[in-house]
Amino acid sequence: MEDKMMIIDPHVHMTSRTTDDYEAMAAAGVVAIIEPSFWLGQPRTQVGSFQDYFSSLVGWERFRASQFGIQHYCTIGLNSKEANNEALAEEVIELLPLYIHKENVVAIGEIGYDDQTPAEDKYFRMQLDMAKELDMVVQVHTPHRDKKAGTLKSMEVCLEHGLDPSKVVIDHNNEETVRDVLDRGFIAAFTIYPKTKMGNERMVEVVKKFGSDNIIVDSSADWGVSDPLSVPKTASLMLKRGISKENVNKTCYQNALDIFGYNGKMKEEHWLNPKGINQAQFFNDNSVLRGQEPRVDADEIK
Ligand SMILES: [Zn+2]
Repeated sequence: MEDKMMIIDPHVHMTSRTTDDYEAMAAAGVVAIIEPSFWLGQPRTQVGSFQDYFSSLVGWERFRASQFGIQHYCTIGLNSKEANNEALAEEVIELLPLYIHKENVVAIGEIGYDDQTPAEDKYFRMQLDMAKELDMVVQVHTPHRDKKAGTLKSMEVCLEHGLDPSKVVIDHNNEETVRDVLDRGFIAAFTIYPKTKMGNERMVEVVKKFGSDNIIVDSSADWGVSDPLSVPKTASLMLKRGISKENVNKTCYQNALDIFGYNGKMKEEHWLNPKGINQAQFFNDNSVLRGQEPRVDADEIK
């Protein structure tokens, strides 16, 4: 491990990724990830689908990551797109308390606006109240259309609900929104996509201009054209472009740990003192193997 940087990807939808991705991420230095609950590429029609999805985020997916040496955390919430089905949204809101106290749930998220409809507004506010009451970190998804207005509105509503901006991560920023987010004391996260939105060259410029305080890099990799190695790739590009190792470490590791570690569920010791990989393990009778020899680290502490 001598000089290899440790990386956290605080926004990646592993449900939609393969075990190859986990292997590649671990090899690239990713030690921990946060999987925000989001939609599934198509809208869910029943609350049971949410229940199974949330269960997989706190159970199976966490296990699957561990089989490749990655610590898995998640955020739980009703996403903005699906807030527009109000009958279902009501049921999902009632379901949330069953999950947000689970061991690997580090925030309420990703919540916010998609089309900025009244229903999205209603459920965003409801979940902000929940976060306020439970003193939890919030992870906000900002809309891809009408981004600037949506980002400003998201922050206004958080402040209106009495949330501490330093406990709110505003995600999917770009050059147009970053200053407003930082000036108001929120944490600014950036999604790095291979083709659209923020590319990693642009991210380097943002860090050069705005520094590394309160800035977080993530991949937001999902079912679309995206890259689960976006964070380690951006980290190496930053180093190549002359950004100090300390600042790279902050934006690609430490800032995410500081904010999402707030409630004490995500701790550095989880990956600094790993138990070692043991792929002979099962989760509810299932393993990640399909006939392969299991990898069992010899230094596993029994
Ligand atoms: Zn997402």
